Amino acid sequence: MSSPFDLSGKVAVVTGANTGIGQGIALALAAAGADIAAVGRSAATETVEKARAMGRKAEIVSADLSSIEPVQRVVDEAVEKLGRLDILVNNAGIIRRNDSIDFTEEDWDAVVDTNLKSVFFLCQAAARHMIPNGGGKIINIASMLTFQGGIRVPSYTASKSGIGGLTKLLANEWASKGICVNAIAPGYIATNNTAQLQADETRNRQIMERIPAGRWGSPDDMGGAAVFLASSASDYVQGHILAVDGGWLAR
Ligand code: NAP
Repeated sequence: MSSPFDLSGKVAVVTGANTGIGQGIALALAAAGADIAAVGRSAATETVEKARAMGRKAEIVSADLSSIEPVQRVVDEAVEKLGRLDILVNNAGIIRRNDSIDFTEEDWDAVVDTNLKSVFFLCQAAARHMIPNGGGKIINIASMLTFQGGIRVPSYTASKSGIGGLTKLLANEWASKGICVNAIAPGYIATNNTAQLQADETRNRQIMERIPAGRWGSPDDMGGAAVFLASSASDYVQGHILAVDGGWLAR
């Protein structure tokens, strides 16, 4: 009997796969057997090389997801290069920090367009391919700010709260069509995205003291949850937002 976590023969599209959480997830999916389309504006050369070293097929798909212009091409190119599309991981995202009283329209639009609008239209393009092919798995990357308010990150909180609602809505519409739509909500993970927080001695100490696990998470910590939500082990899991946070939300 094969493992329910086995992804052999599956193709995963992972956005923002060159670094951080996206790279951690892409390599975990590859380790579980999946071929990888590494999507992003910076070439995911290291990720692709590491996946190939595991014996997987892996291809770079260049796309700037600050607009929805490349969305259909991303799906078409992944299918053309790797033959199919079974798993979509919407990981690419940005954050802008400023007091809400001074927050600009540019900082609002940049974050919401990348973190929410492009995610919806990528889900749509992937689902249009997956439904006639028998289904698939969509994993959106949410945040602690899917559940909490945060501070000085209004567009980020709006986008990640939106990801929570969108994940549930799409699960409602597509569960009967064979697509599982779920999300992973990472806690505080040491990546470029949080470099500013890690460098701030006071904030860093406050964050560490509040995490029951007593440490920042690493991109590798996201891998197990991603493999679970990408595999047949989660076939009856729908619209769930799985926190991988060292216990942050339990506090
Ligand atoms: P990261 O290291 O900054 O990675 C962000 C990724 O998104 C990079 O690959 C980046 O590409 C890509 N990206 C950004 N804008 C893009 C665009 N317009 N088009 C294509 N790709 C774009 O940060 P990370 O922490 O791994 O973040 C990954 C996801 O996890 C994000 O959605 C973030 O909100 C979420 N998250 C992170 C944390 C955390 O504590 N780190 C917690 C909760 C949620 P470039 O390298 O080219 O910029």
